[in-house]
Amino acid sequence: MKTYTKEEFRELLEKKVRDKRTKTLEETTDKDLFYAITSILKDSINEANIETEQRYINEQNRQVSYLSMEFLIGRLIESNLINTGFKQVCDEVLEDLGRSPRDVYGEEHDAGLGNGGLGRLAACFLDSIASLGYAGNGFGIRYRYGLFEQRIVSGSQIELPDNWLREVYPWETRKIDEAIQVRFGGEVDFVIDNDQYQFSYKDQEVVLAVPYDIGIVGYENDVVNTLRLWSAEVPDDAVSPEPYMNQLEYKQSVEKISGFLYPDDSKEEGRFLRLKQQYFLVSSTIQTLIHRFKANDDLPIEAFHKKNVIQINDTHPTFGIPELMRILMDEEGLSWDQAWEITSHTFAYTNHTIMQEALEKWPVELVKRVNPRILMIIDEINERFCKSIFDNHESLRDRISEMAVISDGVVHMSKLAIVGSYSVNGVAALHSDIIKNYTFNDFYRLTPEKFNNKTNGITHRRWLLGANPRLAELISDSIGDHWVKSPVEMTQLLRYQNDESFLSNLAEVKLHNKKVLQEVIYKKTGIEVNEHSIFDVQVKRLHEYKRQLLNIFHVIHLYNEIKRNPKLKMVPQTFIFGAKAAPSYHLAKEIIRLIHVVGEMVNNDRDVAGRIKVVFLENYNVTLAEYIMPAAEISEQISTASMEASGTGNMKMMMNGAVTLGTMDGANVEIAERVGQDNILIFGLSSEQVINYQNKGGYQAKDIYQTDDRLKTILNGLKDGSYAKGETFSDIYYRILTNNDPYFILKDFTSYLETHIKAVTLYEEQKQWNKMSLVNIAQSGKFSSDRTINEYATDIWKLI
Ligand SMILES: *Cc1c(COP(=O)(O)O)cnc(C)c1O
Repeated sequence: MKTYTKEEFRELLEKKVRDKRTKTLEETTDKDLFYAITSILKDSINEANIETEQRYINEQNRQVSYLSMEFLIGRLIESNLINTGFKQVCDEVLEDLGRSPRDVYGEEHDAGLGNGGLGRLAACFLDSIASLGYAGNGFGIRYRYGLFEQRIVSGSQIELPDNWLREVYPWETRKIDEAIQVRFGGEVDFVIDNDQYQFSYKDQEVVLAVPYDIGIVGYENDVVNTLRLWSAEVPDDAVSPEPYMNQLEYKQSVEKISGFLYPDDSKEEGRFLRLKQQYFLVSSTIQTLIHRFKANDDLPIEAFHKKNVIQINDTHPTFGIPELMRILMDEEGLSWDQAWEITSHTFAYTNHTIMQEALEKWPVELVKRVNPRILMIIDEINERFCKSIFDNHESLRDRISEMAVISDGVVHMSKLAIVGSYSVNGVAALHSDIIKNYTFNDFYRLTPEKFNNKTNGITHRRWLLGANPRLAELISDSIGDHWVKSPVEMTQLLRYQNDESFLSNLAEVKLHNKKVLQEVIYKKTGIEVNEHSIFDVQVKRLHEYKRQLLNIFHVIHLYNEIKRNPKLKMVPQTFIFGAKAAPSYHLAKEIIRLIHVVGEMVNNDRDVAGRIKVVFLENYNVTLAEYIMPAAEISEQISTASMEASGTGNMKMMMNGAVTLGTMDGANVEIAERVGQDNILIFGLSSEQVINYQNKGGYQAKDIYQTDDRLKTILNGLKDGSYAKGETFSDIYYRILTNNDPYFILKDFTSYLETHIKAVTLYEEQKQWNKMSLVNIAQSGKFSSDRTINEYATDIWKLI
């Protein structure tokens, strides 16, 4: 990629400002500068994107297509500046102009096309695929409205539409000439011709999938891959299939397909539209891949899987399996067996959850309405699958009804995904073991070779270089900058464990980042926090299994202690929360309200005298995370063991020097393995204990309530309005006592408290704490998504 001197960049900027914004440099607003910079970048990115695509075609590379209903990419400006190598020059030019780079880059609206971890993972993966130079592109949906914007009004969550496309989105390119027709509904007919079934469809709804491409820039390697997001439009010549609908209503009904992101990443969304979105993504994408294969590869269609692998991010794109079958049979004229050979060697499935209520199950009737041919094919896959078990696997015969892809009138998407894929992976070692031994044990016995683990990762370019430049500089000053290309080399930092000057520099960086967050907190909430207090952070989606409730119970307990003994000595602590709740998830919203009520009580009580503070930052998103991660000191990763598949927030905080306080769950297990027991704070039930209680019973929350006065006080306070006059939380109270505390909050409470006491004690030994922080940073290289992607590329995708 081209490089620019300061003078050249300034000149270019001046020209862009003139051309695009009709202003002189002196007259520009931050927004003008933002658009001028993105325009400079985009010129370079587009050029490299064309070259990259051409090179993949020339080299006839095997390619991966990463299909995901979510891409939580956040802002791209800084990441693109870093990866193109323009960051420093751009910063300097802006500073010379007397402008703040942070304010200019702050003009970009987050692309929030995802709910949380799953969508953010997809974004980190694209960054790593490009940075490692792999031929791989992302495919998703260009939702008109992304994840809702969260506002807190009187302590309660309000959802506002995320109108991220209000202004021009500078990174995308609309490619109408590559639009694809996607067909929904209608009826299927067939004739038998020469012993071959010929399928035809009638009365289908035709929707145009229009691609918007975003360049994905590799780190200083001239590679620019593509994220293609599909937008639903009415084809030019289409008339409404419903006679009562006028053209405008018709247009609106079609555009709804890419209208908004469903704001729930953990429960199936029982909506026809959601299912249409899924089919819209896979049909447009797979048609494109077939088209490209026929245009660019000199191979017969039977070799499709030799050049293509499709990784599906959770089960949402599973209809890609019957869709590829449909195209190969109905359009390319292959037989079932030929089509199955190709399809079952094309797809690889990543599982993200083992929680039963979160596994997608769709009523057969609904699938039929989306596309009846797709249901026919799923039916046939199921028939053949069940028959093959019966014929070939006697030991699994009595399990057939459990394993069937369709049963009780619903399609089990995870089973379809497993049957139709050649690889099934979990996202952390523990999670992959649970999949094999419990969740999908039958399938594991049937085809053990399919199952594997790929522990998640995060891109250290965004989460360390971008978000925490001071730490990145400190690391490079100490061990050189080779770690940037090879993050595992951060282990060289271990040499500085007892180096007082390094440790004090590290503490200085942390303090600086805490002051930055302190200002953000003050601006957003008006709350003044002590920069010398412990920044104890839990930021993630609000879900009962993530146990924000356990965290706030701890805070209430500390408050109760202070009230009982106002002279109690206590290291000052700031409890920072950020979390969106799915709009329909009542209990999650109640927990948000509780955090606010407790915050009001604690923050305004004179007796507390600043010893503890509670901060809830509204609208947690990628950009906010980029301020929070570098300032975190305690990383709360306290899910009920076995329930958090991996977590990636845990990795972001570790990489920024926070110490994990968590359960042996998800990737926490591997973090513990890396840093050793002395550098992590583990508490609570093990996953095995949790699974045992779930399967065999034996846990009685009421018994703990009866015998533990601390918990009795906390829980009674929920009902009697102790935390704020007139505000009660009886639904939370009953959830725990009547529903027997399904997430084991009471069970883990004591050990959680003790672990916090240990944390505070360690924190008081500043040198000891800084050393722990250093070990966490040094060992975080494993959790770079570069390592994850190299594993996918080698083991699953066979790109090398
Ligand atoms: C990393 C990230 C997540 C995932 O956090 P977990 O703690 O792993 O659940 C969710 N949302 C945003 C904005 C993130 O950056």
